[in-house]
Amino acid sequence: MSDCIFCKIVAGEIPAERVYENDQVVAIRDIAPVAPVHVLILPKAHYPNILALDGGEGDAALLAGVQRAVREVARKEGVETSGFRLIINCGEDGGQTVPHLHYHLLGGRTLGARLV
Ligand code: 5GP
Ligand code: ZN
Repeated sequence: MSDCIFCKIVAGEIPAERVYENDQVVAIRDIAPVAPVHVLILPKAHYPNILALDGGEGDAALLAGVQRAVREVARKEGVETSGFRLIINCGEDGGQTVPHLHYHLLGGRTLGARLV
């Protein structure tokens, strides 16, 4: 999508620190990190939110790519053993501010048991 900030990052039109990439996704450091490790996993294709995926065959390659990214980013960022949290915000109440599906991978400190 032409006016989407994350599509522009995927296309390299807006700079971002890339920590990992595969055919399906790009992983970048969040510009305003809330933990020592705060990486965003962005599908290369534009999906406005998690509900844009219907769980059918068409999503299989993307979801496999996301899974590979989670494993690799966790390993590269050194939180494979210490642990981390994976968050998807959806819509207004979910706190989604950028309408391009993305996964937050947070770690590097104790995040606590409270979800919100
Ligand atoms: P959301 O609130 O939609 O779940 O998360 C959007 C995230 O994108 C926020 O954590 C915000 O800091 C991050 N973000 C917004 N604009 C940019 C940008 O231009 N570059 C990077 N690296 N992160 C961004
Ligand atoms: Zn987009």
